[in-house]
Amino acid sequence: AHELPAVMAQTNGVPKQKRLAVLTSGGDSAGMNAAVRAVVRMGIAKGCQVFVVREGWEGLVRGNSSPSPNSSTNNLRESAQSDLPAISSSKPSPGVGGGQGFVATYGEGELLKHGEGEVALGGRFIIKVGWDDVRGFLGEGGTLIGTARSAAFRERDGRRKAALNLVREGIDALVVCGGDGSLTGADKLRDEWPSFIKELTESKEITEEQAQTYQHLNIVGLVGSIDNDMAGVDLTIGASTALHRICEAVDSISSTASSHSRAFVIEVMGRHCGWLALMAGISAGADYLFIPERPPSSDDWETEMCDTLQRHRNLGKRKNIVIVAEGAIDKNLNPITASKLKDILTDRLKLDTRVTTLGHTQRGGKPCAYDRVLATLQGCEAIDALLASTPDIPSPIIGIQENKITRTPLVEAVELTQQVAKAIEAKDFDKAMSLRDPEFEECLDVFNCTTRLDDKWKLPETKRLRIAIMHIGAPASGMNAATSTAVRTCLARGHTPITVYNSFLGLLEDNIATPSWLRVDSWVTRGGSELGTNRTLPDADNVKAIAAKFKEHKLDALLLIGGFEAFAALRFLESARKDNPELKIPMVQLPATISNNVPVTEWSLGSDTSVNVLVEACDAIKQSATASRNRVFVIETQGGECGYIATLGALAAGGLACYIPEKGMSLKMVQEDLDFLKRRYESDVKGKSEGRLVIKSEKASKTYTTEFLTKILSEEGQKVFDARSVQMGHTLQGGTPTPRDRSRAARLASRCIRFIEYHAAGVEGMTRRPDDRDKHDVALVAIKGGRLRFVGMEDLAAASDLKKRRAKDPWWLRIYDLVEVLAGKQDLSK
Ligand code: ATP
Repeated sequence: AHELPAVMAQTNGVPKQKRLAVLTSGGDSAGMNAAVRAVVRMGIAKGCQVFVVREGWEGLVRGNSSPSPNSSTNNLRESAQSDLPAISSSKPSPGVGGGQGFVATYGEGELLKHGEGEVALGGRFIIKVGWDDVRGFLGEGGTLIGTARSAAFRERDGRRKAALNLVREGIDALVVCGGDGSLTGADKLRDEWPSFIKELTESKEITEEQAQTYQHLNIVGLVGSIDNDMAGVDLTIGASTALHRICEAVDSISSTASSHSRAFVIEVMGRHCGWLALMAGISAGADYLFIPERPPSSDDWETEMCDTLQRHRNLGKRKNIVIVAEGAIDKNLNPITASKLKDILTDRLKLDTRVTTLGHTQRGGKPCAYDRVLATLQGCEAIDALLASTPDIPSPIIGIQENKITRTPLVEAVELTQQVAKAIEAKDFDKAMSLRDPEFEECLDVFNCTTRLDDKWKLPETKRLRIAIMHIGAPASGMNAATSTAVRTCLARGHTPITVYNSFLGLLEDNIATPSWLRVDSWVTRGGSELGTNRTLPDADNVKAIAAKFKEHKLDALLLIGGFEAFAALRFLESARKDNPELKIPMVQLPATISNNVPVTEWSLGSDTSVNVLVEACDAIKQSATASRNRVFVIETQGGECGYIATLGALAAGGLACYIPEKGMSLKMVQEDLDFLKRRYESDVKGKSEGRLVIKSEKASKTYTTEFLTKILSEEGQKVFDARSVQMGHTLQGGTPTPRDRSRAARLASRCIRFIEYHAAGVEGMTRRPDDRDKHDVALVAIKGGRLRFVGMEDLAAASDLKKRRAKDPWWLRIYDLVEVLAGKQDLSK
């Protein structure tokens, strides 16, 4: 007898496949489709039968006008059959899901044609889907399976109908993607389930056997919400994309505001949560912002705002941007509205002021790379959580905390979330702030410190420093934003910022400047390196001259922004201190490299932008094949010996294969991928052309170059597909920095200045773990589990593969296998 997959149970001697459903509910958010795709594919890969419920809870209440032909089936053979008339013309092929193959149960591409409504569905809301039904989902905004606000589901009777519909379809496990309302509804349904089963049996709407089989309902929640308002979850699905939309809009408004010397008040979403407003304020270079959790402390906040904006004008600024969350209030809970702000600025400062309410723009559009990855990781985790659930485990929500995918009890998270609104109502703003993650308050401080221009932040004369700021290595998006915050933090604290152009070569040529607050105003949004950068490192030949320049310019500290070169430079300078006392000043590296190969830190500036550039290119490239013929694209990425960009890119763009230096390449791998590609094309609907992606790091193999690989695929794919290569090259280094790179830049730069103050002037004020304190005055500021840590050069060297210039054990390597799973190369049902 063969071993049954873990997800199958014996019922009367016949194996029963787990049947689970996924639905999206409440307000839509970008990334919901990626979550649905991951749930469907991981579910199938693990041997389950997966259903989608259209139109959220409303679809579950309405159910199917006639029961599915195979509902409540206990028969394995039937698992690969369609619930619907044969829409699909795909052939099942081996590879995934206990033999189900890549068949599109519902009909490949049909779900993408969202909007045809009930008529096209024949009154069916609970639909069995196959692998290819969710093809193309990754890059689509909104939710393709529909969402709704369901009044019926709020009532017990509606939930009873939902329970009946689930039992009829043989489903006793649900993944729900939505906000706190949707998840509250989910928990109610689970709680009431046993009572519904009892009632439905008594009324003979279900059989005794069904009642026995479906005694419990298991539920897992995914938080899809653009507000990022769920407690215990650092980032919700869709929040990052909404921030992208806001920053795109504010960037556009900024240029016209500047032309006309106008002020703009921009209203963004967030009734009880100021995350979008705060992150947009930091990332788009706003002058002032209002959020619900921290109303202005002053009774006369109007004057405070006008004074700040006037100070900006006095420095020569031609535009003002004020960002206001829709739920912004003063400390007496009176709303602070965009139109009120407009009147104040017009009347008091005589500014030509306009209001832009971004509204639903924020919900729409393609998901950014991070939302695709986040939703994918969480969707996969949801399946594991469902399969592990038992009646006594409370329903979890899947979230991310400190860069780790987590399971938190749903009820607790929802309760905590609702406490924020209650705290605001009770004017307990400190509590409201404390319920946000630690980054939130820090970002607000950074924003205020760099924009208010008052003396509150100034240090005494004796503590003021001359701080050099320099870029090194290849350019990375976010370097300029970091420089801007560093300069402005220096000015706010009374230090002298000294920007060094063209790295150490520039220092040797005295190519330096002392920038003003206004000089760095537009740098937040600019890609590349405004200071100029190169790869020349300090060495035995030039170190004396460099030390002499440190002395000549009376440098008290150095902030070095860059990747592995910055690490190498600081490591050398620290080692050269014994012969060069001038080098005994605090030096700190702010990690910035698209390759994300700096050890210890989970992220470097530029790495988010580069993956987004790659993913956008992949979307466009794939589309080109749809218009021509079956074509495999081998997309080559930069990244040196580090496969970060390729791996995250493949996950976010849906690559079928991913070659990276850490894993290497072999003839066997290429052969297997070739066979797999052939199988995939052969299982496609005939007459439809399709583009498929292979993502390859430039240094994945010395032998299997991109050109060689493309030729092999082209030659061997002959009648089935052809192959082309695309080299992303330096495009990945360019691009407007993403909001994530911009806001990270601000937070990291501000911390670096505090680090320097602590080591050079003995100024306390760093929020660090005690064991990190004052150990090293030459360090890297690392993002570790969402928090910032300072790591000395020796610890960095220990965590590095110095020859290959990368980390020894990077976190993202642990998600590499998911590329294969979601491509359908691994059958996890055995
Ligand atoms: P958003 O973040 O967009 O507000 P949400 O999930 O919180 O998302 P809601 O409109 O609050 O959106 O809820 C969506 C649906 O969930 C409701 O239409 C309703 O069907 C169900 N729901 C919400 N709250 C409850 C509740 N307390 N009991 C039962 N069902 C609920």
